Amino acid sequence: MLRRPWLRFTLNLLYFTTILTLFFFFEIAAFTNAKTIYKIKESGDYMGLLIGSHVSISKGLIGAAKEAHSYGANTFMIYTGAPQNTKRRPIDDLKIEEGIAYMAEHDIRDIVVHAPYIVNMSSVKEDIYALAQTFLAEEIRRTEAIGSRYIVLHPGSFTSKDPDWGIKRIAEGLNNILTKDTKPFICLETMAGKGTEIGRSFEELQQIIELIELKDKIGVCFDTCHTHDSGYDIIHHFDDVLQSFDDIIGLDRLKVFHINGSLNIAGARKDRHANIGADASNNRGQDMIGSEALRHIVQHPICQNKPLILETPWLDKKTNLYKEEIAMLRGEV
Ligand SMILES: [Zn+2]
Repeated sequence: MLRRPWLRFTLNLLYFTTILTLFFFFEIAAFTNAKTIYKIKESGDYMGLLIGSHVSISKGLIGAAKEAHSYGANTFMIYTGAPQNTKRRPIDDLKIEEGIAYMAEHDIRDIVVHAPYIVNMSSVKEDIYALAQTFLAEEIRRTEAIGSRYIVLHPGSFTSKDPDWGIKRIAEGLNNILTKDTKPFICLETMAGKGTEIGRSFEELQQIIELIELKDKIGVCFDTCHTHDSGYDIIHHFDDVLQSFDDIIGLDRLKVFHINGSLNIAGARKDRHANIGADASNNRGQDMIGSEALRHIVQHPICQNKPLILETPWLDKKTNLYKEEIAMLRGEV
């Protein structure tokens, strides 16, 4: 052997090239077999689940933060006043400083504001359309004051007109109020498609976004009840739904999730929220999405580091299931 070093060299070379080829072959195979690869843009330094619920602002931001903490939440969502009207207390009454200090102490972050759902940015009536814009501009200012980066907006209903007309109307209204200094993302919500709601498909949301001048101010809020009700199969094919979202809108716009069960089957266009995984014994009705599918969604990489907000029904005036639902979604029970 020693007399023929070139032979030993060639054998060794052959041996190492074979190993290397095999290694790369399996690596590449594993890479191409991996499930859909998403363009996830990271923001913030938090890695993990941010789960919370809608909470009351009646005792100010501090009251809201304490309520969220009592549910084991590390984020939350508020309406800055009653969701069904535009009466609002002055910002100074909201105990913002105390609230922010409490949140820092209890690691609560990325809170969300929901615009009242009576704001119809595609109203046919000029006075209501003008009021919607004035109010939303005010609401954006309140969102900034509270220190929230997201304001969720139901795009609007086209009533006696048609979707194309409504889409243009919404975009025009948003163009009137957005400025380059607007801080929070206006998160257009995916809607169930009941009545004449706009936003029942990713295409409709994208058509609005295309007409917006300051596109970097626009995000999307993905509601599990609404997407299910509008016909997306989030139960069995959540990855495909996300892929379609990415193709049509782009996943970098996805900022907030609303995690809700639904009382209806996919495509029912009803928009009636159910408790997570509720069975027939729940007095508010059975969840047709189910805890398994919702837990799968919440544990998906796309949900990391984004506010996941429950808007599930209360069982009666004093009882909700937020604490149990949050623990279940985290996989703690
Ligand atoms: Zn909503």
